[in-house]
Formats: sequence, structure tokens, C-alpha cells
Amino acid sequence: AKNCGKNNAKLYCSALTTRIMSHVKLETGLRRALQNNELYLHYQPQIDVRSAQLVGVEALLRWRHPELGLVAPDDFIPLAEETGLIVPIGAWVLRTACMQVRAWQEQSGRAVRVAVNLSARQFKDENLAQTVLSVLDETGLDPRLLELELTEGTLMDDAQATLSTLEQLRAIGVYLSIDDFGTGYSSMNYLKRFDVRALKIDRSFISGLPEDSENAAITRAIIAMAHGLKLAVVAEGVETAEQLQLLQQYGCDLAQGYLLGHPSPEEAIGELLMGACE
Ligand code: C2E
Ligand code: CA
Ligand code: CA
Ligand code: CA
Repeated sequence: AKNCGKNNAKLYCSALTTRIMSHVKLETGLRRALQNNELYLHYQPQIDVRSAQLVGVEALLRWRHPELGLVAPDDFIPLAEETGLIVPIGAWVLRTACMQVRAWQEQSGRAVRVAVNLSARQFKDENLAQTVLSVLDETGLDPRLLELELTEGTLMDDAQATLSTLEQLRAIGVYLSIDDFGTGYSSMNYLKRFDVRALKIDRSFISGLPEDSENAAITRAIIAMAHGLKLAVVAEGVETAEQLQLLQQYGCDLAQGYLLGHPSPEEAIGELLMGACE
């Protein structure tokens, strides 16, 4: 605090103080967010590139802080991971998403898959598989309608707890997919070791298409490799018709992005499903 005397240093100190203050505020807030019903989910459509059918949704967590308003996941998920709060919050996300898919199924007679994001921290929790099992049991959801999105980092982590969780999840029969593919560790070994269903090509590769020839080459190579391994491919962050057309040409299986639907409240997805069955 002594350094705060000088002008530049003072600016720095107060900016830091503000950051620490808001960090503390966010953390206290996050601890109460669950019981205060401040958390909710949005769902983003995943579309079959060939048939243009809605085949699934990704559940995305939202937090409305009573004073700060909407807080972006990128601002509070890391905090939830650091504090371990991601474990109870993640269990809530799983339960809520599975209940929602069942509700849509009853309303519309249509089964869609739901993808739920899981942090590395959650795989280290020895109760994760049990939580998944209880949620499936309570909701009566077919395990093949639940997809767990994890990152390359999670699979590269060879902590015993993570390995045993992955094995238990495989036995339960839920799907695993690799999120943000291509941005993490580049060892491809884990693709052979684990029973992965799909790769999600990170938005950073899609966003420059079709002009960016390097990203186009990477996208094409990921699709070819995935298909060689009998994995499905989901393109993230599809924003333009040109991008979708190129992905179709490359044989990409599923697409997700603002062009096909923004993350939306459950009612909007319910309407889509009802509309689609005429
Ligand atoms: P993600 O899993 O990669 O999710 C995709 C993000 O891209 C979402 O941001 C989504 O709103 C955004 N997005 C979708 N389509 C487009 C598009 O066409 N253009 C652009 N520019 N963006 C698009 P969001 O909802 O802010 O979530 C950010 C990250 O927070 C997620 O990235 C995920 O890593 C994490 N996250 C969200 N919900 C959960 C959760 O329930 N649990 C955990 N552990 N992490 C979550
Ligand atoms: Ca994701
Ligand atoms: Ca992603
Ligand atoms: Ca991400």
C-alpha cells in the first residue's frame, strides 16, 4: 500500500483493490446464488447439418446477480471452479437440464439430446457419477440423451479420481464430447483411450470461415480425423450462411451458433419443438 503514493502506482492499486473487492463480492454472491434462485439455464439449438433438424441443445448457465445484473459465465465459472462451488452448482445444472428435456419430451413427443458442460474440477469429485445416475433415475431420462461436454485438459489429467469417474460414466452410458477441440493440449492419445462420441470444433476456427484458408484447412482436417475415428463433429459459433454451407460441404455433422439459434429460455425451445411436429 506504500507504493500507492505515486500517481501511476496509485491508479494500479485502486484498480487492483476494485478487482479484489468485486471478486469478494462475486464470491459471497455466488455462495448464495443457488438458494436465492439467481441461477437459470439457457439452451442453444444444435442442428443436423444435412437434415436441418433440431437434434439437441446445449445447456448454458446464467446468473442474474441482484445488484450487478447478468454476470457472464466467463466471469463467474472460473470463480466457481476455484472455490469448489462448481460441484453443487454443476449438480443443479445437470438436474435442471435433464428435467427440462423430459418436460419437452412430454409436451412435444420429441426426444432431443441435452449437452451439459462439466469442469475438470467436477471430474475430480468422486460423487459425480453417482449424481449423474441419481439424476437419470429421478427424471427417467435415457442416458443416451445426456451428453457431457468436457475439455481436452480434463482428459489429459490422469488423476485417479478423474479416470475412475470417466469409467463409471462410460458404464452408465451417457455420451462424452470434447469441447473447444483444437485449443487445448494436442495429444490425441486420449481419443483412443476414452469412449468419446463427438468433437466440438472451437469457435475460433469457425469464425474466420470461409475466407481464412488456414482455419478452413484445420476445420477440414478435424472433420476428416473425427470421421476416421467414427466420431461425430459439431461446429461451434456458426454465424453466417456461408459458414454453414462450407461446413456442409466438408461433411460436418452438427452445427451450433447464432445463425441457427441463440441460447434461449426453455419456452422458446419448447415452441420450436412443438412447431416442428406440426
Ligand atoms: P462453451 O461451452 O464453449 O459455450 C459456447 C459459448 O459460445 C457460449 O457462451 C455461447 O453463448 C457462445 N456462442 C454460441 N454461439 C455463438 C456464436 O455464434 N457466436 C458467438 N460469438 N458466441 C456464441 P456463454 O454462454 O457465455 O458460456 C461461456 C462458457 O462458460 C462456455 O463456453 C462454458 O465453457 C462455460 N459454461 C457455461 N455454462 C456452464 C455450465 O453449466 N457449467 C460449466 N462448467 N461451464 C459452463
Ligand atoms: Ca460447451
Ligand atoms: Ca465450446
Ligand atoms: Ca469454452
